[in-house]
Amino acid sequence: MAAMCPVCRRQPPADKYRPFCSKRCADVDLQRWFSGSYVIPGGSDEPLGEDGEED
Ligand SMILES: [Zn+2]
Repeated sequence: MAAMCPVCRRQPPADKYRPFCSKRCADVDLQRWFSGSYVIPGGSDEPLGEDGEED
């Protein structure tokens, strides 16, 4: 039947963020993709830092 969000598995996918239920879950999945090479601290809404990066 209805597929649940693969991240939290508690809510059905939202049209806007399929197959995830929210941007947060989409971000979580994205971070998994980048895990190991790219770590985002906290639960920021921004995909990239605003303060630049360390050199
Ligand atoms: Zn979710």
